Amino acid sequence: MEVVNVLSQVTKKNIKANLHLGGFFIQIYERYMTNREHTQNIIAGPCSLESAAHAQHTMQEAGRLGIQTIRMNLWKPRTSPGFEGVGEEGIPWLREAAERGFTPALEVLTPQQAELIMTEVWAKVPHSSLLLWIGSRNQNHLLQRDIGSVVAEKGVSLMIKNQPWRSKAHWAGIVEHVLKGGAAMEQLSLCHRGFAPANDASEMRNPPDLNMARELHDETGLPLIMDPSHIGGRSAVVRQLISDFALLPEVSGQIIEVHPDPDNALTDAKQQLSWSELELLLALNGIL
Ligand code: PEP
Ligand code: MN
Repeated sequence: MEVVNVLSQVTKKNIKANLHLGGFFIQIYERYMTNREHTQNIIAGPCSLESAAHAQHTMQEAGRLGIQTIRMNLWKPRTSPGFEGVGEEGIPWLREAAERGFTPALEVLTPQQAELIMTEVWAKVPHSSLLLWIGSRNQNHLLQRDIGSVVAEKGVSLMIKNQPWRSKAHWAGIVEHVLKGGAAMEQLSLCHRGFAPANDASEMRNPPDLNMARELHDETGLPLIMDPSHIGGRSAVVRQLISDFALLPEVSGQIIEVHPDPDNALTDAKQQLSWSELELLLALNGIL
C-alpha cells in the first residue's frame, strides 16, 4: 500500500520524466520493492554554478526535494581550457545557502581557495556546515596536505575523490597526506568517481572498481560516497548507476550532478540530470 501511494504521487508529479525514462521505470519499481529501508545521503546540484539565478534555482529545487547538501562548484578544473567556473563571484551565493540551512559542497584546488570559503562562507554563518573536496585531478601532495591543514576545524568536512588512474595505494595516500596536514579522520569521507577507462569505447566515462572502494572503506572506516555522474558520463547510464548504488549497503551517499537545462549546461552537459528526473529516481529507489 505504501509503495503504491508513493508511486502514484511520483507519477502524477513527474509524468514527463517518467515517460522519458520509459521501460526503465519498471525495473526501478522492482528494485524499490526490495530496497525501501535503505537510505543514503544525497549531494546534488550542478557540475558548476553558472549565475546568480542558477544558484537560486538550485537552492529552491534542493529545498523542494529535501536535499541538505548542495553541489555549488565555483572552480572547475577542465580537460581543455573553457568555462572554468564563476570563481569568487559565487561566494555570496554559497553564503546564502549556508544561511538558509544548506551545506554548500564544492571542490577546492588550493589551500587558498579552502581558506577563502572557510572565512567568507563557513565562519560568517554561525553553526553552518561545509563540505569541501579534493578532486581527481588535484594530485600534488603538497597542496593536498596544505588543504588538510586549512580544513582542520570542526564543522568542515573534506571528501577525498580518487585520482583518475587505478591505484588503491595512491587513493589511500591522499587520505594520509591530508591527515598529515592536520585534518581529523572524523572530517573525512571517500568519494569513488571511477577510473579513466582503458579505451574511449567504454560504456562508462570512468568505470568504477567497487571492490577497491569497498576495501578502502573497510580499511579506513571512512564513509563511502559514490559519484554516478562522473562514473557514468551519460545521463542514461547515470540513471542506472544511481539505482545500482542505492542497493549497496556500504555506500552512505551519492553525489549527483543536476541542472535545470542539462543539454545547455556549460560543463558536463551529457551527464547532468534534470531535477524532475532526480526526484523520480530518488523516490523510486527509496533513497530520500
Ligand atoms: C567534480 O566533481 O566536479 C569533478 C570535476 O569530478 P572529478 O574531480 O571526479 O573529475
Ligand atoms: Mn562535472
